[in-house]
Amino acid sequence: MGIYEKVIKLKSEIPESVTLISVSKTRSLEEMEEAYKAGARDFAENKVQEIRDKFPEFHQDVRWHFIGHLQRNKVKYLVDKVYLIHSLDRISLLEELEKQYETKGKTVNVLIEINIGREGSKTGLLLEDLEELLDRVQTCRSVKVKGLMTIIPKCDEKTSRNYFKEVKNLWDSLKERNLNNISMEVLSMGMTNDYKVAIEEGSNTVRVGEGIFGKREYK
Ligand SMILES: *Cc1c(COP(=O)(O)O)cnc(C)c1O
Repeated sequence: MGIYEKVIKLKSEIPESVTLISVSKTRSLEEMEEAYKAGARDFAENKVQEIRDKFPEFHQDVRWHFIGHLQRNKVKYLVDKVYLIHSLDRISLLEELEKQYETKGKTVNVLIEINIGREGSKTGLLLEDLEELLDRVQTCRSVKVKGLMTIIPKCDEKTSRNYFKEVKNLWDSLKERNLNNISMEVLSMGMTNDYKVAIEEGSNTVRVGEGIFGKREYK
């Protein structure tokens, strides 16, 4: 099956209420075009440079998502390009987003990335650091939190399910609190290997790379 067919198949399999994001990191514009032709309009990258390179060359009606670790000195390059940043994971990054977007008189939509598996190697916020971040978000003028994102550890289905449940519960509880600048609209969880389980556990946004474009080869 080619890229076009894979997108068509995925779109037919996942509920209409779930957003399918095509993770196009390391992929060429030609490969992305195949996905676009099949109706893909949400694309995600994990490197700022890759968004900067692709943005002017690709269709202007797509929504770009940033899903990688974001360095503070690169935030300025994302203004006016990204639709949603999935990887807010620390206060220093929040401060920089606030500063860069405030200066330009714009607002930025972000998700808080939760490191639910507590893996040292992974990015994302630990639960014990969440309240401090939420406090600061509430005083921001330019940063709007729209939900949560998580990347879970590699594990069996039962354990995955539990991680997804935990994040969904957190999302539900934050929704109920109605905090300033914080709304729970997006729950971004699930990738090629676990998107089905993630959707069953309440995800409304899945990020699929290899399941669309085939195996990634890093040069
Ligand atoms: C690469 C990546 C994905 C996609 O992973 P696949 O296994 O190729 O589907 C999803 N989310 C993040 C944050 C990624 O970096």
